[in-house]
Amino acid sequence: MTLQEIPTPALVLDRSVLRRNITRMSERMRNFGVNLRPHLKTAKSVDVAKLATEGHSGAITVSTLHEAEHFARNGFNDITYAVGIAPDKLPLVSRIQALGAHVHVITDNVGVAQAIVHAASAERPYSVFIDVDTGYGRSGVLPESSELLGIGETLHATQHVTLKGMLTHAGHSYDAPDVTAITRIADDERNGAVRAAERLRAHGVDCNDVSVGSTPTMRFVERLDGVTEARPGNFVFYDLSMHGRGVCDIDDIAVSVMTEVVVNLPDRGRVLVDAGALALSQDRSADTGGMPGCGFGLVCGLDGQPHAPVVVKKTSQEQGWLGTRDDRPLETGAFPIGSRWRILPNHSCMTAAAYDRYHVVDGGNEIVAVWPRVNGWTAFD
Ligand code: PLP
Repeated sequence: MTLQEIPTPALVLDRSVLRRNITRMSERMRNFGVNLRPHLKTAKSVDVAKLATEGHSGAITVSTLHEAEHFARNGFNDITYAVGIAPDKLPLVSRIQALGAHVHVITDNVGVAQAIVHAASAERPYSVFIDVDTGYGRSGVLPESSELLGIGETLHATQHVTLKGMLTHAGHSYDAPDVTAITRIADDERNGAVRAAERLRAHGVDCNDVSVGSTPTMRFVERLDGVTEARPGNFVFYDLSMHGRGVCDIDDIAVSVMTEVVVNLPDRGRVLVDAGALALSQDRSADTGGMPGCGFGLVCGLDGQPHAPVVVKKTSQEQGWLGTRDDRPLETGAFPIGSRWRILPNHSCMTAAAYDRYHVVDGGNEIVAVWPRVNGWTAFD
């Protein structure tokens, strides 16, 4: 089967680009002596996870317990669930651990730390990262705070709970105007997490791991001493949002949405494709960050090269309105009904979430594999 034949809309993944992105990040982290624990929230795929962990310990990060269960069933046995744990989810964590995986949870709250200690037993041990805020302002204790020491003391020296280490995520690197600013944020991310670990150690609390990472910061970070692992996720695919911020080239974007033209009204200058808000997402992060006018995605030919400067201007649920980036009239003759186009997404994590599989190509038009994705939230449903 080829890209001309798959039902549209479909999510296309170019394995040659994926491999190149992974090799670069993997080698970068190895050169720092840091383990790559990729965040699978973007790819949600066992096939991608196997490639992304090659040459590292095999540890991964997930954003749902559904993913944790899925990866545990598929041979991954060192999994960080990197969303603050609510105590009622602890029994699910134990069920996933019973499948043979170590699942590390995160918290920034003394009450939750106490609940974890209370729930732990020889049959139900828990492993915990303390979530540290190094500037993002989403969650986490501050590196200089008394809460950090309070959580550390609570988890320390309890029989069935392991304090795994410090964890931070510099999500504010997505708002950085340029590479210099990203590099500064990467430095803050490292410094804050290492400082938190040092404070705990000075307080007599063992703390082995220091876990950092976002795609922009890990792409440009200059030093990672004191850090043990990194958790970028978006880097496997990249997207227009990362391109707009100078983090990747257009050629590094590994996923695109295969679509076909379904309406062509030359007298009104209108062309619609069968990829709308549900197939692309309504994320406009590239439009507002570095690529003004690129709307809901950049239109490319089957070879993956941008058909400059055509973009998806507007979306309804299942249809996308094509237009030009600079608002010049669209050459409707170039888009006959049934013609096929690949749309590069603003934010690959959001766009990919609409699909249950990847149609995999290897640089060309031939579909060389179909890889499933694991969407949804509920474990053991
Ligand atoms: N770690 C945590 C806790 C995250 O929330 C995320 C992304 O949301 C990541 C790592 C990966 O960052 P990125 O998506 O920039 O690769």
